[in-house]
Amino acid sequence: MRLVLLGPPGAGKGTQARLLTAKSDVVHVSAGDLLRQAVADGSELGQKAKSIMAQGSLVPDGVVTGIIEERLRRPDCVSGYILDGFPRTLRQAETLSDVLRHLQAPLDWVISVEVSEDDLVRRLAGRRICRACGAMFHVDTKPPTQHGICDSCGDQLFQRDDDKEDTIRHRLRVYREQTEPLIAYYNTMGLLRRINGQGTIEEIAQRIHQALGDG
Ligand code: AMP
Repeated sequence: MRLVLLGPPGAGKGTQARLLTAKSDVVHVSAGDLLRQAVADGSELGQKAKSIMAQGSLVPDGVVTGIIEERLRRPDCVSGYILDGFPRTLRQAETLSDVLRHLQAPLDWVISVEVSEDDLVRRLAGRRICRACGAMFHVDTKPPTQHGICDSCGDQLFQRDDDKEDTIRHRLRVYREQTEPLIAYYNTMGLLRRINGQGTIEEIAQRIHQALGDG
């Protein structure tokens, strides 16, 4: 299965991608995670991306597309993948279509996860992440047992720089202006499935399964 999860920041794409990959042999390819890794490694590319990401703007298309193309060509992607956070612009979507045509491995589906803007701000502003294992918590809806400490591995939780309210609003504007047009793009290609992204993690997972025709 080759799938794109499309949706605004905070829609739960990462969470749903992890659930889907846990049940099958497809891999989770997160553009944000790959970029954060490049920043943590201090590579030239990571240094370029760091301040852009902290502001909540998009890293240049060429940079992200290069990283994703390299990732999709690795052998573990042969059995399928879930793309999370890529593509985010029409240019990226067109490049992806070209790369996949070349690999003779087209996308199966694009799932658009739809959530109201007020809910997105609430979700993102309260989000806390484990530094060590990446587990996600929320100050209101999924607080850790011990304040600031990960229930899974005991390491410290942190708030992403770009999960502060001003930056969240900017990221949502960037989504509306640059990423939302992809809904029409993939609809025209006959690949789009829209799902309601409000509700519990399990409810949303169930809707995704139904949209993929195996629920
Ligand atoms: P995410 O973890 O998906 O919310 O991504 C975090 C940040 O990484 C975004 O706000 C952008 O700065 C950058 N980023 C992630 N994916 C892309 C992409 N496809 N194109 C450009 N920038 C991206």
